[in-house]
Amino acid sequence: MNFTVAIVGRPNVGKSTLFNRLVGRRLALVDDRPGVTRDRREGEGHLGDLTFTIVDTAGLEEAGPETLSGRMRAQTETAISQADAIFFMIDARVGPTPVDRAFAAVARKSGKPIVLVANKSEGLAGEAGRMDAYSLGLGDPIPVSAEHNEGMVDLYDALVAAL
Ligand code: GDP
Ligand code: MG
Repeated sequence: MNFTVAIVGRPNVGKSTLFNRLVGRRLALVDDRPGVTRDRREGEGHLGDLTFTIVDTAGLEEAGPETLSGRMRAQTETAISQADAIFFMIDARVGPTPVDRAFAAVARKSGKPIVLVANKSEGLAGEAGRMDAYSLGLGDPIPVSAEHNEGMVDLYDALVAAL
């Protein structure tokens, strides 16, 4: 199957970490500082028996943590428009923020299939944030830990169901 999945979300939720995980090599720059992935990155993603194009979106955020900078929004919209499905990622430990809600509105407007990915859910961390994430209106949050490689089977199932 030949399709494209875009990883979308505010800076620092772990998009590049998941991208690296799915591509299987350190292609995207991962950094503790928000907004480090400056350009969109594409790679060949693998998840179970699926192979697809995966797109890591930037998080350039010069306007401050509670504002969607125009460039970030435009880049996200472009990636969404070129994708067949969206991994919409939040930080489950933080729960949904106003910036997440702004991104969620952009993603929802596209009408594309969306998988709500609740990252940083290793162990029992992020359970409260995951409950709150239902309020984004993007369906069931899928708990994963991109860093610790947890939840990939559930992510696979959710992607297959969304496509
Ligand atoms: P991006 O800005 O959304 O691309 O986020 P990054 O992939 O650059 O990750 C931001 C920070 O979150 C880095 O410090 C990562 O190591 C960390 N991170 C990513 N995934 C996880 C995870 O599953 N669990 C935890 N605890 N931290 C993570
Ligand atoms: Mg990044």
